[in-house]
Amino acid sequence: MSIFGFLFRTATSKNNSPAERKAAKPAQTMGSELKREMNEREFSIRYKELVSKFSYENYDLNKEEIEKLHSLAKQSRWTGERSSYIAKFLMETGKLDKEDAELLARTEASRAGSILTQIRSERAGSTGYVWRSHKDARTRASHKAMNGKFIRWDSPPTIDGVIGHAGTHLGCRCFAMPKFP
Ligand SMILES: [Zn+2]
Repeated sequence: MSIFGFLFRTATSKNNSPAERKAAKPAQTMGSELKREMNEREFSIRYKELVSKFSYENYDLNKEEIEKLHSLAKQSRWTGERSSYIAKFLMETGKLDKEDAELLARTEASRAGSILTQIRSERAGSTGYVWRSHKDARTRASHKAMNGKFIRWDSPPTIDGVIGHAGTHLGCRCFAMPKFP
């Protein structure tokens, strides 16, 4: 699978039509490979290291809740499920309203994808990536300004006071185009 294969892999859902489910079958096969890859020991260690850098103080989540959140977001990569079940879990904590839960759930699913890109890219000898942002009205000016910039994996930029790579910021839809030597 190409490095971008998973980035553009269509999310599958139990609510899809039979035709869509059929079309998604190869993606599900990749899903089980992805699950194996992401549960491999070295991968898990690096994943934990990267995901632990994010702060949840605005949400008052405890350690156990944050771990569960990370675990659900990681799983969303190979199950291909949408972020709604992550939002459901967040709302069940009683600490987030629907809007915040949905925003954080989308963010965590995106972060999981960004971290997966980073680990795979680093393993393939990449030292960095080109930041890509959408040009639409929903994209913050500070994120638009990042478009086209080369970022080293080992030095995530600070944007609006928050440190993180493309796709890891709250509500961020930007993504990384890894560069290889
Ligand atoms: Zn962004």
